[in-house]
Amino acid sequence: MEHIDHALVNRFDTPRSSRPCEFCRELDPQFPERRPLDQMVAGSRKAIASAHLTEDGYVRHRVLELRRMASRVPLTAA
Ligand SMILES: [Zn+2]
Repeated sequence: MEHIDHALVNRFDTPRSSRPCEFCRELDPQFPERRPLDQMVAGSRKAIASAHLTEDGYVRHRVLELRRMASRVPLTAA
């Protein structure tokens, strides 16, 4: 009898090859309030939206990107 279930749950909860997204950590004031999994990106990937492990993390990352982009785009009307 192997304890496969237990091992699977552990691996899913805290993927060994994941780390907090440094982009979000830097730009999101609410980063510490996220669920732990929503803070994480896959360890082998860059800190980009699609590297996030959860959809919520992905969405929040995208929002931060868009917000930053919007604040940097110069207003060149006229
Ligand atoms: Zn992120």
